Amino acid sequence: MHCPFCRHTDSRVMDSRATDDGSSIRRRRQCPECGRRFTTVETASLSVVKRSGATEPFSRAKVVAGVRKACQGRPVTEDQLALLAQRARGPVYGEDLAWGTGVTAQSVVNNWLASPRHRAVLLRPGFRRIGIGIAFGTFVGHGGAAVVTADFAGR
Ligand SMILES: [Zn+2]
Repeated sequence: MHCPFCRHTDSRVMDSRATDDGSSIRRRRQCPECGRRFTTVETASLSVVKRSGATEPFSRAKVVAGVRKACQGRPVTEDQLALLAQRARGPVYGEDLAWGTGVTAQSVVNNWLASPRHRAVLLRPGFRRIGIGIAFGTFVGHGGAAVVTADFAGR
């Protein structure tokens, strides 16, 4: 991620949180070169591969329009189509970050559970997949630090 101030080609994630509907992640970043901070919003994009081989962004409205057309003359109500649209959701995902010196898996999880917004990510019912990353080194000037990231996905 380029720094928007000095165009440095790297940035450090200081904090991250999922938006309320879980469709994107806001990250607070700091540039290691000029020290300025900025926010990024990342969203997952779901693509549909057409029969022709071309791809286009997933569109709930198009899915429903296609099903409506296929169901013409059949006993399918608008209510049933609306229900289908609701279920044809895109993916949701979330992320918790932690860093510090002398951290253990237990202390990281305890800190997340004690923080309402980290706890909400950990316990979100739709999440079915998890990825964990841990890096050791110097972080924000603190040697011997561990940076822990947990990413969740589901629907
Ligand atoms: Zn910069």
